Amino acid sequence: MEWYEDQIETIWETGSSKPSRGEAREPFIRSLKEWLDSEGIALYSHQTEAIELIRAGEDVALTTPTASGKTLAFNLPVLEGIEKTGASALYLYPLKALANDQLGKLKETISGAGLSVEANIYDGDTPRHRRPDIRRESDIILTNPYGLHHYLPWHDKWAQFFSRLNYVLLDEAHRYRGVFGSNVALLIRRLKRILRYYDADPQFILSSATMANPKEFTHKLTGENFRVIDRDGSGGGNKHFVFWNPVHQPDRSVHGQATELFRIAVDAGMQTLAFTRSRRMAELIARWANEETARSVTSYRAGYLPEERREIERRLREGTLDGVASTNALELGVDIGGLDAVIIVGYPGSIISTWQQAGRAGRGEDDSLVIFVAFEDPLDQYLMDHPAELLGAAHENLIVDTENPHIVGGHLLCAATEMPLREEEEFMKDRTDIAEGMEEQGLLAKTGMGWIYQGEARPAKVVSLEGISGDTIEVLEGEELLETMGERRALGEAHQGAILLHRGETYLIEQLDLEEKKARARRADVDYYTQSLKEKETSVSEVFEKRSLGELELFFGSLHVEEQVTGYQLKERDRTLSKRSLDLPKVEFDTEGVWFTLPPKLERQVGKKSWRGGLHGTEHALIAMAPLFALCDRWDLGGFSTPLHPSTGKPSVLIYDGFEGGIGISEKLFSLFEELADTTSELVKNCDCEEGCPSCIFSPKCGAGNEPLDKGGTIEILQFLAESFRT
Ligand SMILES: [Zn+2]
Ligand SMILES: [Zn+2]
Repeated sequence: MEWYEDQIETIWETGSSKPSRGEAREPFIRSLKEWLDSEGIALYSHQTEAIELIRAGEDVALTTPTASGKTLAFNLPVLEGIEKTGASALYLYPLKALANDQLGKLKETISGAGLSVEANIYDGDTPRHRRPDIRRESDIILTNPYGLHHYLPWHDKWAQFFSRLNYVLLDEAHRYRGVFGSNVALLIRRLKRILRYYDADPQFILSSATMANPKEFTHKLTGENFRVIDRDGSGGGNKHFVFWNPVHQPDRSVHGQATELFRIAVDAGMQTLAFTRSRRMAELIARWANEETARSVTSYRAGYLPEERREIERRLREGTLDGVASTNALELGVDIGGLDAVIIVGYPGSIISTWQQAGRAGRGEDDSLVIFVAFEDPLDQYLMDHPAELLGAAHENLIVDTENPHIVGGHLLCAATEMPLREEEEFMKDRTDIAEGMEEQGLLAKTGMGWIYQGEARPAKVVSLEGISGDTIEVLEGEELLETMGERRALGEAHQGAILLHRGETYLIEQLDLEEKKARARRADVDYYTQSLKEKETSVSEVFEKRSLGELELFFGSLHVEEQVTGYQLKERDRTLSKRSLDLPKVEFDTEGVWFTLPPKLERQVGKKSWRGGLHGTEHALIAMAPLFALCDRWDLGGFSTPLHPSTGKPSVLIYDGFEGGIGISEKLFSLFEELADTTSELVKNCDCEEGCPSCIFSPKCGAGNEPLDKGGTIEILQFLAESFRT
């Protein structure tokens, strides 16, 4: 085609594999066996492995790909166990939509096999008058962490269900990472504490995407030791994975090229799903494609009515819809059957998500097509050059932190309303200091039974599973709540005049009221964006760990950070349109960081002129690549670089967790720093630009307006880092 200019960097084939079958050691109870036979279901080896371990009472984590039959692998032994022993099961899903989808599947099996198991959803949509019956009659309850967080204080109403609870299932558990995951981990410990009171000691069953640290992650999330099953026996057809780099055809936008690929695939008779990063783009791609094709194409996103979404999912399954452009809303486990082609428009932010999306392509043993269309971002471009990173073994570590005192504090208050906190219970191990602090603040009171809650507001209302307790700003459009964010983030992203990106839509912030804790936004279709300008100071509070590698010294420890937003720039692509100043208060916080110091020798080698810009570029590039190792958003990290740091007395680059108290990202980066330095060095060295660009050392969140930056200096510093580990 005339617009093709070498955009294809690589075509990778996954190869096809034959399914590997397994046989359960003990036959299933008759009703289930007959159902399996009548449905013609032959189990895969990973399914029977999971079934046997669950039957043996182990905690089991299944980390095989989407559509490998994970649901059946845990439903079968759980249903059998309930039927045999009268136990109950709690299924937790990160999203309501998933619980709905999964209830349908459970009910099919239950009625198909003629079991007497009662399964129900219990969440915010459950009518009040139905709730007592559901709690009393259900053998399986499907809910989500947000709901559980509010039900635990009323555990006596759940006594009957909890006291026979033998299975806790966490589906799509990779979603429980970062701040959200850390909150869920503490919620699970609150649940376990209540269950102990009712003499229940359930097995945990967990399903998740593939990751680098399944043992560590599942243990941190639940406190249990899991048997991990990661060998997929389901087999499948060959996937042709195309790496498409639009930068080789600069006359056409990324989205224009993606739309064209989408239309061509649909017209060729392939049922195709295009994943976009924003809602607006999903709609635009569907609309543009519709103008060019006679096939039936639509868009899909979270804001649609449930009936509309069910309809699209059904038509995809039945094959009456040829193409859908969707946000990541369709990435999760909702059943839509296999498709012929998937187009991933822009790196979804993690290898896990990329595979969830790619996993939508493929029908049985047929070939399928996946096209990954890159943006101009560092990670997108790095992966274009290093396809094996995406296709090889997982190296993203999922992070959960159960020690952040601010997160722990909130859950201590919740737990104290659920049952008095006793110093000797496991839940309180290493946490008595925090409880004593809360006693001093008058939030807890020590009684003969233990600490009890003394505050006024209900803690479950104040503690959000998505945040860290403390000041939270609500971003409102009229009366509608768009999102909540910490005060520090709001100062940088939701100040007056800021353009806020929310689910791919642009909003103009009209006012930030720190006393009322509200930011007022309105929809604004603008072509520019804003970048806040910040002044920062950092000081080292404590060094926890140190590594000396020749002349490089690497540290992990706690930092004190002071930030002040002093103004912002209005920008269009890389061009600054104007600059405005702001009068906002300074914020201070304590967090954890990883940092290193460099020798004078290197400064001489790089040269005075390039030194500052080199340090600054190194900081940006390391932060851009960090999510590849410690799964997070680049916005979750802060950075600081200086030729002379007051705490170290040397040229230093610091990277820190952007959350009060830290959530374990820096700690992980410290342990993986060699890999991080290596890949970052590769990225910058191989970037085609002359002086740095958004694909390497420019940062969309730089508080100094991306000045100074020096690509040559950055390359030399990164090379020094990478080499220090080798000698
Ligand atoms: Zn570049
Ligand atoms: Zn910067």
